[in-house]
Amino acid sequence: MGEKQNILITGAASGIGRASALRMAKSHHVIVADRDGDGAGTVTSEIVAAGGTATAIAVDVSDGASVRAMKAQIESNIGPVLSAFFAAGIFIRGVTGEIPEADWDRMMDIHVKGTFLCCQAVIPDMIAANKGAIVNMSSDFAVMAVPGAAAYMAAKSAIYSLTKSIALEFAPQNIRANALGPGPIDTPILKSGRTEAEYAKAREAFAENLPIGRLGQPEEVAAVLDFLLSDRSAYMTGQIIHPNGGQLMW
Ligand code: NDP
Repeated sequence: MGEKQNILITGAASGIGRASALRMAKSHHVIVADRDGDGAGTVTSEIVAAGGTATAIAVDVSDGASVRAMKAQIESNIGPVLSAFFAAGIFIRGVTGEIPEADWDRMMDIHVKGTFLCCQAVIPDMIAANKGAIVNMSSDFAVMAVPGAAAYMAAKSAIYSLTKSIALEFAPQNIRANALGPGPIDTPILKSGRTEAEYAKAREAFAENLPIGRLGQPEEVAAVLDFLLSDRSAYMTGQIIHPNGGQLMW
């Protein structure tokens, strides 16, 4: 990915998506997509202020019509998308016996269906160009178990499996698909469901338990994303890569 490209990033108004948008916009046009349209606009303004180019789009990735409208808008106003990072996500805590059906559905709709719909939207451009790179946002929790995160773990495992399917199906068309599996990263999602005091305690616990001794920063995940979208990772597809401070080793 040497030449300037259009890079679509979902969940780009906040956290890891935002850090990735700011980083990739140093050399590419970034489509900053998020259900928080105002937040996407703010990130776009930051990119433009730094000398880059970007387009903000409001999208709900769990809604097929919304994803298709986003793709149509990109097609008419910007052009083909040959690089994409699908990072939109939420976290709802809950043990299996107590998760309300609506929470389960929301987790699956945003993470699994949302990632599927976004991949489906960009793959035709990649087939036409005989080139493409997709990075889907999974988690360490796709492959390790923690209490109170059953729906999240199931969703992130499904995203990892979907990524492997896409990698296998579209390798002949020179389309690569990889997943990111971060450990704990200091963003709003990690705070969700915790009071300030609980979050302070959780940070201390992470520092104590993680081999690297601290939470990760969103920019540290963006650096790995940059590698996975670039030709430096040209021989990698169907992998899950873990910027995780050593939380999980295998
Ligand atoms: P943030 O909450 O900072 O960013 C997530 C963004 O996605 C928010 O702007 C959120 O909007 C947006 N979003 C949520 N639902 C939708 C939707 N239906 N359509 C479009 N946008 C949506 O969290 P992170 O940056 O930390 O999370 C990014 C991804 O990384 C997530 O998939 C998360 O599961 C994953 N991850 C995070 C880890 C961490 O420790 N932070 C570790 C491993 C994985 P809103 O604010 O309105 O919800």
